[in-house]
Amino acid sequence: MTELRLFNSLTRQLETFTPVHDGEARVYSCGPTVYNYQHIGNMRAYVFADTLGRVLSYKGYKLTHVINITDVGHLTSDADAGDDKMEKAAAAQGKSAWDIAAFYQADFEADLERLNIRKPAHPKATEYIDAMIEWGKSISDKHCYELDSGLYFDVSTVPEYGRLARAVTEDGEARIEEVDGKRNAADFAIWRKTPAGETRQMEWDSPWGKGAPGWHLECSVMSKALLGLPFDIHTGGIDHREIHHPNEIAQNQAHEGCADSGARIWMHNNFLIERSGKMSKSSGEFLRLQLLIDKGFHPLAYRLMCLQAHYRSELEFSWEGLQAAQTRLSRLLRTVNKYALHYDNDHQGLSLAHAEANWEGVVRFRQLITQKLGAVAEKSLDALIAAVSDDLNTPSALTIVDELLLNGHLDHQQKSSFLALADEILGLNLNSTDYASLRIRPKAAIITETEIETALAARTEARAAKDFAKSDAIRDDLIAKGVEVMDGDPLGWDWKLDV
Ligand code: AMP
Ligand code: ZN
Repeated sequence: MTELRLFNSLTRQLETFTPVHDGEARVYSCGPTVYNYQHIGNMRAYVFADTLGRVLSYKGYKLTHVINITDVGHLTSDADAGDDKMEKAAAAQGKSAWDIAAFYQADFEADLERLNIRKPAHPKATEYIDAMIEWGKSISDKHCYELDSGLYFDVSTVPEYGRLARAVTEDGEARIEEVDGKRNAADFAIWRKTPAGETRQMEWDSPWGKGAPGWHLECSVMSKALLGLPFDIHTGGIDHREIHHPNEIAQNQAHEGCADSGARIWMHNNFLIERSGKMSKSSGEFLRLQLLIDKGFHPLAYRLMCLQAHYRSELEFSWEGLQAAQTRLSRLLRTVNKYALHYDNDHQGLSLAHAEANWEGVVRFRQLITQKLGAVAEKSLDALIAAVSDDLNTPSALTIVDELLLNGHLDHQQKSSFLALADEILGLNLNSTDYASLRIRPKAAIITETEIETALAARTEARAAKDFAKSDAIRDDLIAKGVEVMDGDPLGWDWKLDV
């Protein structure tokens, strides 16, 4: 199989993936701070990490994937200043910080599921406080100094601080100088002391006084505890390349007494952007997955929208773009649903996801399906694997899928077998998503589906009786209620609701 080449932010080059532990892949992705809902930009980071995990699994590596839950210690600025996000949300909603964390963690997990992101391990920062204190103790003498506000890491004590970021931006400098008394602008908190006279909902005793860990510490501690240092791949959004990940690397270097970064490959997804500011969590109706669903879109249309762009490119969100992704998903599903019978009979409900716990199962699944492919589809599958092995080129992989489905020389069995294997990587749930669920169904619709179907049946009858005045009147009435009647739609939809 083609070797896997990934873009390493440390070297700014494509590198061949060679695992630290034979046959295994250990991946850590910075997870959400659970003080609010996640916006769809955050979810792009996890679609990317999941795609990486799927490619690694497909290639036969036993995958351990961790996405941590930051349920403490993240301030409103990355620079150790500002309010504690958890405590602020708790005060605003009149709940405890612990309840806030539990609520938004559950919401995040529901979003992961709706995007068909395979279940990673989800350690919570609050479960690792003791380990964080131990880590702090072991590096404090050589690498840290104490101020009134906490214990700070002196970045000049480790080799090549910031090599991942390459440049500290002016904006970054401006933000990190906010704490008085720091030796270097980029120094950061290992421990944040609770100010004298105050009590926090989330605070712990430590050698540096009551308080909470600095945000960067949890990722070093949890990645070492769960994956061991060094591990294979660390992922996150491009913003983390500038401050959070350089700080994780500095902590790893200090703790391990080496120049190594802790992960062999650091990968960063570019941002999903939205011009009108709806991505900001402080804007009233910000863009989260539930909003897309309320407007009638299928969550996997958003997954497909992400896959249509390379993870290192910016992706601009628009409702038209999402609509186009949903149409593309409809085309794929229409093909699969047509072939569903073959799929079930041939593959006996077995899928790579089910079989992953057991490698023999994976091999059996592959053999079973590969036999049905035929030479042409097998070549396309090889091309698809080559595309994703080239730094996860999912846009190109999707084009290969489109081309294969249009190939008139292939039979249903060959196409469905190809899709079964391709979907292990794309994660679009092609085999189990119901085609009807892709119909645009905004929550705000003022007419039910039964009413629409009844009106359409009456319209068909009127047309058959050549009563065009009546059929036009029915159509006008439907339009007034936000229903577009779609005669002769190539995807087989006869109506759709306005978004
Ligand atoms: P946070 O909770 O802010 O740490 O964000 C969770 C993850 O989402 C991190 O990996 C961020 O880098 C990433 N992220 C934040 N905003 C965006 C965005 N607009 N597009 C893509 N990824 C993002
Ligand atoms: Zn992190």
